[in-house]
Amino acid sequence: MPTPLLIANWKMNLLPDQAQHLLKSVTAESVDLPVVFASPFPYLPLLSPLIKDKAHIFLGAQDLSAYKVGAYTGEVSGQMLRALGVKFVLVGHSERREYHREQAELLAQKIIRAWENELTPVLCVGENLQIREQGTHLAYIREQIAEVLAFISKLSVEQASQSPLVLAYEPIWAIGTGRTASPEMVQEVHSHIRQALRELWRGSMPSILYGGSVKPENATDLFAMQDVDGALVGGASLQIESMQALIQKFVKAFAKS
Ligand code: PEP
Repeated sequence: MPTPLLIANWKMNLLPDQAQHLLKSVTAESVDLPVVFASPFPYLPLLSPLIKDKAHIFLGAQDLSAYKVGAYTGEVSGQMLRALGVKFVLVGHSERREYHREQAELLAQKIIRAWENELTPVLCVGENLQIREQGTHLAYIREQIAEVLAFISKLSVEQASQSPLVLAYEPIWAIGTGRTASPEMVQEVHSHIRQALRELWRGSMPSILYGGSVKPENATDLFAMQDVDGALVGGASLQIESMQALIQKFVKAFAKS
């Protein structure tokens, strides 16, 4: 069974004291399912002391370098993230694909760098509005996954079958727009991703998260879908109240009965 997972993606928001206050506030109550905070890089050392006694709260990063070490100005390596206590890292978020032109081969290299450093990569996929309206989104998403996995097998066959992977389905038209995909739309894509992974991925079945304007008001219906294993949350993770409510709904939906 894939592990339920809730990831907060803070993007380029918050100042250091705000980030510390937010993390302290939303983790005051203990949880027994994994919740990840994908923080801006500079805050990682400030946040790790705040979670050191919390078994199910993890630090995440929003990106990592495709290179191991060396003259790559502005880059942050997997090795650095590991040394700072990071456990999860987003790879190929649509904002990275769009603003930094990240493509499949680079994403495959980043995933391998993550594995080399015992980080769990969260590969983000999702269609834009035009593709959704054309009705070709299922084939498009399968191809996004297939091309990254194909590069991974070319670069590192051995690691691929033994390393952890998380998938996040994030329709671009639903990110930060307030427009959420309906639970049925999400289920359709997630079951398609699940099937694609059965055919293309030799490791254990990755968790498949939904992201795109998830908030307390829609989370329960999304979490109820059979192939939704959790969420990747942007905007609603920046407010104490909404993040607390999301954590409660996540725990309620996925706690073993
Ligand atoms: C995201 O960018 O990962 C995201 C899901 O953002 P939002 O929740 O704000 O749509």
